[in-house]
Amino acid sequence: MQILDGKALAQKIEEKVSLGAKELKAATGRVPGLAVILVGHDPASQAYVGMKKKACDRAGFYSVTHEMPDDISQDAIIKTIEMMNKNPNIDGILIQLPLPKHIDTTKILEVVAPTKDVDGFHPYNVGRLVTGLDGFVPCTPLGVMELLAEYNIDPKGKNCCVVGASNIVGKPMAALLLNANATVEICHIFTDDLKKHTLNADIILVGAGVINLIKEDMVKEDAIVIDIGINRATDGRLVGDVDYDAVAPKTSYITPVPGGVGPMTIAMLLSNTLKAAQIHAQEENSF
Ligand code: NAD
Repeated sequence: MQILDGKALAQKIEEKVSLGAKELKAATGRVPGLAVILVGHDPASQAYVGMKKKACDRAGFYSVTHEMPDDISQDAIIKTIEMMNKNPNIDGILIQLPLPKHIDTTKILEVVAPTKDVDGFHPYNVGRLVTGLDGFVPCTPLGVMELLAEYNIDPKGKNCCVVGASNIVGKPMAALLLNANATVEICHIFTDDLKKHTLNADIILVGAGVINLIKEDMVKEDAIVIDIGINRATDGRLVGDVDYDAVAPKTSYITPVPGGVGPMTIAMLLSNTLKAAQIHAQEENSF
């Protein structure tokens, strides 16, 4: 069993991105800029936004957080996004999810300019992903693909079981694997007999938000297990969706939580923001 070390790879990617940012600045004067919209006071969202800001600082990016109260109107959020769309110092716009219930998340995500959509949630970028075209890909599944590549794991021809079918994790994960020529099954809350599906998988990728969802008897010998879940256990520890101690000895590769997919997500956000800045620099130069 080998651990897929997302923390180490994320650091390597961050160093590459920092270098890319320095080169871009030297060539064009442009500093990559990220705007984050944070609505409300959810402690987990605040912590994630804090980590993203620190990562931007490390990489030499400009970043700004627009903090808004829980009862902010949808129009006010839209106006702020439209302002960011026009702001030449901003290359990437990130809407920290979830948004409060009275806000239509789909509508908000559609306002973000597709070339600033560094989270890859705009339907334009979703469509490009599904059709296998270049665009912005959601950071968490993109990070998983980078992690697999780092360890020379090629999903081509492999049976992959994605557990969880959200727009931000499971669906884009499945699209990326399919684009990489894997055979993909997508399971979710209504899947009958989850074990039947996971037992057939060479690679299990789980992002459901359920502690110990994947147990030892659901994993075949030498499978690769990617744990995307991040949950807070009753004792306060961060844990994934996999019963790690029991499952790990059976696997050929496994990601730990923390230190697996989590750090990769932030590294890919930086990478996507640099990509956006490079696109914007090129657009500027072509006028
Ligand atoms: P979500 O609630 O939007 O979606 C959960 C998905 O899991 C749904 O498709 C649901 O049908 C499925 N599911 C739930 N219970 C299930 C069960 N018992 N059996 C099978 N499928 C089940 O959540 P999300 O935003 O996609 O996040 C999922 C998990 O991934 C959470 O733990 C979240 O914290 C984590 N996450 C991690 C990162 C990271 O950087 N590692 C990023 C985003 C989300």
